[in-house]
Amino acid sequence: MKQVFRNARVILRDRILDNGIVVCEGDRIVEIRDSERNEPEHGDQYDVVDLGGCYLSPGFIDIHLHGGLGADFMDGTQEAMELACFAHLKHGVTTLFPTTTTASEEQILRALDSARKAIESPTGQWPLPRIEGIHLYGPYFAAEKSGCHNKEACRAPSPSEFERYFETGLIKIATCAAELAGAESFYRAAKEWGCLVTCGHSNSSWTEMERAFEAGMRHVDHFWCAMSSVQSVRSRLGTPMQGSMLEFVLGTPEMSTEVIADGWHLSPELLRFAWRMKGVERLCLVSDCNRAMDMPPGRYLFGDAEDGGWILSDGKVGRGLDGGLASSVVALDSMVRHMHIAVGVPLVDAVRMASFTPAERTGISDRTGEIAVGKRADLVVLTNQLQVRQVIVGGKIALTN
Ligand SMILES: [Zn+2]
Ligand SMILES: [Zn+2]
Repeated sequence: MKQVFRNARVILRDRILDNGIVVCEGDRIVEIRDSERNEPEHGDQYDVVDLGGCYLSPGFIDIHLHGGLGADFMDGTQEAMELACFAHLKHGVTTLFPTTTTASEEQILRALDSARKAIESPTGQWPLPRIEGIHLYGPYFAAEKSGCHNKEACRAPSPSEFERYFETGLIKIATCAAELAGAESFYRAAKEWGCLVTCGHSNSSWTEMERAFEAGMRHVDHFWCAMSSVQSVRSRLGTPMQGSMLEFVLGTPEMSTEVIADGWHLSPELLRFAWRMKGVERLCLVSDCNRAMDMPPGRYLFGDAEDGGWILSDGKVGRGLDGGLASSVVALDSMVRHMHIAVGVPLVDAVRMASFTPAERTGISDRTGEIAVGKRADLVVLTNQLQVRQVIVGGKIALTN
């Protein structure tokens, strides 16, 4: 049986195909064409869905997110892992990389185990997006840039610890602050394990970034958040003033980065600036969303019960108890809308930064991340206002909002 989506505005990698038709068979996209060759399919072998002029977008891919619907990926149970994944599926995310935070080795291993169970033997309680791997994020942060993460749990990378994480085979994105002792051996190991290697929660200088780059680091977490500036490097290393992560990312074409485009972390001009400077091939949208998403305003734990810290959600953004920013409470669909409607980025670019670009950076673009023949049928139906109406994972309708 072939699934036919017709009368759709199909969001391709670099343009929108008006009145397009997308045909899927099994879990793959097998044909894309426009209305010029609109021979209506009929007969038993076709299941035709008329999208009534809605957008058909590639499913969103989130490479940096912590939870939703009350669950955090660090909670350490399969239930919490699946619930947090489901929370994002509702918002059009068809592929994600559950993200760890600063915690004990045991708790991180528990979180990895819960992900393995969700991948290998899902409970079936909720429809799930695809978990392509884990983002090992923390505990290797610089304490002075820990942000809302537990300072005490920040530490330098030691091979005896991180090899245990890599040996699970689950880590596909790996973060470490470049100035920490042992960072380079961490980056080398991460590269060998095939990870997107990233620097975050760091006050590193240009020189330290250069060394990290040589060891395989190619990405920086949430641009402008918990990262160095010329001034912060000056406070740490004195004068002459030196370049920081910011200059290194902007000045190095191979480097990619990501922005939290919820409208509360960064102003429209900063988001537009990042898009202009890095371009759609090197800028990802990430939600960096915590468990308070789609929950009432209130106090929530960021991370697990033992090591986590409290944050406050007002329903719009997360804040630490000191009032500082502490991750978002919305998913990638909000970020795509914000980038297009408030920031003025073309829709194809906004969608690409939430689908193909993160797929490319994490090495999964051979199978997903765009509407193209041969790719997995991971799709989202969006209304004219870019609200998620339906989510399709691997050719199967996972949910309808
Ligand atoms: Zn962070
Ligand atoms: Zn984060």
